Amino acid sequence: MVVLVYVGSTVVVRPGYTSFWDGWVGNVASIVPLVPIALRIRSTKHLRGAWIAMATGIALFNAGNLIYLWHDQNLNPIPSPAPSDAAYLASYVFFAIGIVMLTQRHFGAVRISTRLDGAITGLAIGSAAGMLWFDSVLKVSGRPLQVVVGMAYPLLDMVLLVILISGLAPLRYRPNAPTSLLMLGMTAFVIGDVVYLNEVAANTYVQGTLLDSTWVIGIWLMGVAAWPRDERREAPRTRTTSLPRGLSSIPIIFGSLSVLVLVISLVHHTSGVTSLLALSALCLVIVRMAMTLREVRGAEEESFRSARIDVLTGLGNRRAFFESGDGRFEALDDGRRLGIVLVDLDGFKEINDSLGHASGDELLQIVSRRFENANEGRGEISRIGGDEFACTFDVGSVAEAVAIGNEMAQMIATPIAIGGMTIRVSASMGIAVYPDHGSVLSDLLRCADIAMYEAKQSRMVVRLYRPEGDARTRDELALLDDLRTVVWERELVLHFQPTLDLRTSQIRGVEALARWRHPSFGLLYPNDFVPLAERTGLIHVLTKAVLHRAIDELAQLHRTGYELQMSVNISRYDLLDDELPDLIAGLLARHGLEARWLTLEITESSLVEEPAHSKQCIERIRAQGVQISIDDFGVGYSSMSQLLQLSVDELKIDKSFVLALGTDDRARAVISATIELARALKLTVVAEGIENVHSLAVVSALGVDLGQGYFVAVPFSSRQLAEFLANPDAVSAAGAKISRAALRG
Ligand code: C2E
Ligand code: MG
Ligand code: MG
Repeated sequence: MVVLVYVGSTVVVRPGYTSFWDGWVGNVASIVPLVPIALRIRSTKHLRGAWIAMATGIALFNAGNLIYLWHDQNLNPIPSPAPSDAAYLASYVFFAIGIVMLTQRHFGAVRISTRLDGAITGLAIGSAAGMLWFDSVLKVSGRPLQVVVGMAYPLLDMVLLVILISGLAPLRYRPNAPTSLLMLGMTAFVIGDVVYLNEVAANTYVQGTLLDSTWVIGIWLMGVAAWPRDERREAPRTRTTSLPRGLSSIPIIFGSLSVLVLVISLVHHTSGVTSLLALSALCLVIVRMAMTLREVRGAEEESFRSARIDVLTGLGNRRAFFESGDGRFEALDDGRRLGIVLVDLDGFKEINDSLGHASGDELLQIVSRRFENANEGRGEISRIGGDEFACTFDVGSVAEAVAIGNEMAQMIATPIAIGGMTIRVSASMGIAVYPDHGSVLSDLLRCADIAMYEAKQSRMVVRLYRPEGDARTRDELALLDDLRTVVWERELVLHFQPTLDLRTSQIRGVEALARWRHPSFGLLYPNDFVPLAERTGLIHVLTKAVLHRAIDELAQLHRTGYELQMSVNISRYDLLDDELPDLIAGLLARHGLEARWLTLEITESSLVEEPAHSKQCIERIRAQGVQISIDDFGVGYSSMSQLLQLSVDELKIDKSFVLALGTDDRARAVISATIELARALKLTVVAEGIENVHSLAVVSALGVDLGQGYFVAVPFSSRQLAEFLANPDAVSAAGAKISRAALRG
């Protein structure tokens, strides 16, 4: 309001100094903007220093006003430069500090070269302004010092404005609200000071006009800038500066302007100050260019380096490992060998999944530190994959390389504390040695990879490459590669094995069994690829494809009129996938199928890994109405207490017990005990692996509900299943086996 009244007064009240309007109201109007700034300083810690500097600037500006009011203007003649000028000029120092801090804190550090643009612009514009005004102002005042001080104001305004704008560089020059207001404020100053200087030069300046209010408006805008919260663009608060994007246009434009001014002032012999300013601007342009050049070169080096460093561990990355390449062999002394130890952490994915990625990262850092500490000076360590490290050592013999591998194994065996718990990490290490196993890096790495894979397979920690083990492993590795890129929609085949209700002799349902129609290996069975998929985290994709296909088949069966149950095997890792319940619900809903027609078979070991998480997932699925079956019951390691915590619908006795029925009496005891347990828990009991009439007779007599096995029906393709179900003789033949078995029994 005060500002508004004052600005109004300069328009309404006739020109000329009035002590009330220009003295009192004017001074109060330029002091009030301190209030929002003071509030800002008090209320937020954020950017406090910057706003203190701005407030100090405004206070000094006001001090200048007061000194002028009470001292300078009473002198005759009014001195110029006057003591008030000292205060005014000092205020610029604080404005500059404030603005630099504001932009720095807000938008991240700004390169010095960008800041230099501010000075270049100021000097160039100053020189141009000098060319236009200096001589005329000099004619009026006759005193160069007065002219210099007079000209300093618009010049400094310009500098502030450019500092402010250059501070926006990291943000691609998109200001937020406070910055925009500050920019407007500075602009008001520029306009005021330029017009003022012009009027002084023309000797037309009169006090108490709208011109005087430009400064008050400028200060008012600074005050308002302290007001709004910075809702937008809360700064990338990084210490890293933006990459220099070559030369900005500022030094080019203003460098050219300075050259122009310099030429004109040489031709027209204008004042030395003008040429001096233009020359300084040009010098700064040169400095600026040199700096940019250095910054660009530095940035290039930095990006070269950072492209070869693993950010997480600080070790060399895969690229660095391969780039140093075969040069390593050439650097070896005669008779020396190069050992490569390839390390892959065991179960890292599970640690990541269960403890979170932050803990996973921490684990990797700890492990790398251990490797580094222990190998200092002996070899080079790189992280070439998520949880894969490659170490190269200059060794005298193959045995020495193996010894180093063993040492490294011990290093990581010490328990590690992360995320509030202590875990023990193990690793599998494969060792290959140059020149024994290969003469180029890629071959050696391949050998080390095979050895590492063998270590994982055989649950050994360290394994030296053996050419004998190669062929089989190479097949598996090839399979692993294929597994990563397989398009399951094309290569997945489901077979369906019927289950027989042992009481009603009816087919009750089918179990979906996955097969992989591999382009070169032919039809593969789950044992060949499921464990591989589980180990590498590729199982989720497979499970999804199986669920898709099995539920499609289920819908097809129901449409044809067969109200059968569909059992699908899912891996224990699937239970760590939080999307699984929704996926299943979606698939069932798509076909309008009731959830109770689907059974998920999980193994007991699902509960060993991560009981809480798995249990939650199972409960979410079961809450939809989907049945849960415990597959391979009896061979898992789950404790009774874990089983009791879980609500399931079915127990599927492992086929090893059924297969042993003919030879081992204890098998019968296990089966009948399981049946008793299931009765007590009100669960359905399924016996799988019924291969002959004898076992069928025994399990029926013992009271098993459902039977499955080659004797009942083999796994069928989808077409074969349709034929089987459509053929009443075949179905009743399966059922009839029970009565025959009973007779035999
Ligand atoms: P499972 O769930 O216990 O499946 C039964 C396995 O026993 C099937 O082997 C089946 O062909 C076989 N089998 C059926 N009747 C008899 C019999 O009378 N005697 C004998 N000795 N075996 C019989 P398959 O298809 O090789 O599957 C092996 C395992 O692979 C399955 O054991 C299951 O755990 C897993 N599996 C199968 N399909 C999938 C799948 O889609 N996802 C996952 N995660 N695992 C699957
Ligand atoms: Mg099964
Ligand atoms: Mg089974």
